[in-house]
Amino acid sequence: MENNEEAKKYLSEVDSWLEDVSYFLIDLNIHSEDKIHELINNTKNVIRQNSDEKPLDVSEIIAIQQTVQDIDHFVQRRIGENERQKATVPIGKHVLPKLPYSYDALQPYISEEIMRLHHDKHHQSYVDGLNKAEKMMKEAREKNNFDLIKHWEREAAFHGSGHYLHTIFWEIMNPKGGGQPHGELLRQIQKDFGSFDHFKRHFSEAAKKVEGVGWSILVWSPRSRHLEILQAERHQFLTQWDTIPLLVLDVWEHAYYLQYKNDRNKYVDNWWNIVYWPNVENRFYKAREMQWDAF
Ligand code: MN
Repeated sequence: MENNEEAKKYLSEVDSWLEDVSYFLIDLNIHSEDKIHELINNTKNVIRQNSDEKPLDVSEIIAIQQTVQDIDHFVQRRIGENERQKATVPIGKHVLPKLPYSYDALQPYISEEIMRLHHDKHHQSYVDGLNKAEKMMKEAREKNNFDLIKHWEREAAFHGSGHYLHTIFWEIMNPKGGGQPHGELLRQIQKDFGSFDHFKRHFSEAAKKVEGVGWSILVWSPRSRHLEILQAERHQFLTQWDTIPLLVLDVWEHAYYLQYKNDRNKYVDNWWNIVYWPNVENRFYKAREMQWDAF
């Protein structure tokens, strides 16, 4: 710094930058007890000691410049982490999620052979089909040619529902599963269905009686604020839009035929042994945060 005026200008700029950074950090959920705020406050205190009578010397100003760089790096890193947490899937870039357990983990209720085929082949084909549909719809928009849009919308609904439902399905099962849910989900089930046993019978019957291939699905309705059980034919038919699936049971033949042949009922009855309620509870709490105007 050539003279005190220039130093004063620089220091006052740093001071207001630090002020902005501390608000920004709080927006990023980095609260005042975090060490970074201590560093910011200490730096501000040093800057405010600068006066005409006793100006900061060059080494003190260089130290401030280094601290500013450190704080800037910290902020950039945290912005990066924040963005990754809010990651979105670019058009046509869905990927097959890994199973949260090994292929044989759900035995004897669901065989390793089924899990390998179901996850690696069937689910993968939904991911591929959804990616293709998204890309083709993008192309249609770019070329302003919607001649085949009905076909690609169908594909997006079929493969998209297939991909999203299977992603939930792997997570709501677990070798540590079975039993009943706890806490508020259990109370809500009792309120909306009478008892857990009533719910379980209703859900099982819905699964056993899906016409052809499809799903049995427990959903939360953010509008009526109660739970409901729905069937889906294939993946996307009979869907009640505007609800959030909580518990899903795949009753396509590929989900059980190798092991249970045509005895879907036995598959449904056995399946309850691997329902992983902590995951369903977590889905319920998150879903319940959403609330629409009641109509
Ligand atoms: Mn399936």
